[in-house]
Amino acid sequence: MKIILAQPRGFCSGVKKAVQMLESALVSNPGRIIYVYHQIVHNTWIVRDFQRRGVIFVDALDEVPDGSLLLFSAHGVAPGVRLEAEQRQIKTIDATCLLVDKVHQLARRYADDGYKIILIGHRKHDEIIGIQGEAPEAIVVVENETEIKALNFSADEKLAYLTQTTLSSAETQKMIALLKQQFPQIQGQAKSNICSATQRRQDAVRQSAGGAAAALIIGSRNSSNSRRLQEVAESIGLPAFLVDGPDDIPLEAFKTNDTILITAGASAPELLVKRCVAVLQKNFG
Ligand code: SF4
Repeated sequence: MKIILAQPRGFCSGVKKAVQMLESALVSNPGRIIYVYHQIVHNTWIVRDFQRRGVIFVDALDEVPDGSLLLFSAHGVAPGVRLEAEQRQIKTIDATCLLVDKVHQLARRYADDGYKIILIGHRKHDEIIGIQGEAPEAIVVVENETEIKALNFSADEKLAYLTQTTLSSAETQKMIALLKQQFPQIQGQAKSNICSATQRRQDAVRQSAGGAAAALIIGSRNSSNSRRLQEVAESIGLPAFLVDGPDDIPLEAFKTNDTILITAGASAPELLVKRCVAVLQKNFG
């Protein structure tokens, strides 16, 4: 078997920073329970590893006792969550990625200037929930072209668009083009708010796939950027398998003389890439 390792792949700077901040909090607070609001990053292996070391992941502030230590994940939180934590003397550490924070700032600025904001993204994703919390009355989330076509704003309405940082660049460009066609007055970043880490990992799949029979994407199902890597691979004709780690590899789908492209989502550790490569080498040479 021949294996092509896409480059870049795996951890982005925002994920590295969030993981390091949680590691440091564990070292600096021995014996103290550390709570994390949502998964620190969307990766099952990383979350389980921290859980084994006593970290408690929560989805709501009422799971966190007053006065505790709480870390906000890389995906960011709504201002209301910060305020409530402050009121309850919960000590917080903010691991929000700077690129997500930038989208929060833009949302605040547009809302303060009287714009209605069309936010392209997955409405149940932690990042979108956090951004929407900046100005819930001004933000409308859309997930696809059908939802964009159903929007109804007048020609003199001040409109702006923002996007989730981890979307497919090709799909997002189509949605932005549709928004501009429907609402010529709309403002927004020329391309999107997709971060360069997401973009470069998608480009690497397109550029390194030559001759590959299939793609193996290492990442968790709730990782938006990992799922987009799977879609990018499929869009260029490769059967693409998204796996959490070596135990999930569908060995029956591969043959000894195959060439396999391997990449990893921005929240998947390189350790898992190495373990997956080892399993393929053991089974297919
Ligand atoms: S994928 Fe992009 S936005 Fe998300 S944590 Fe990484 S660098 Fe930040």
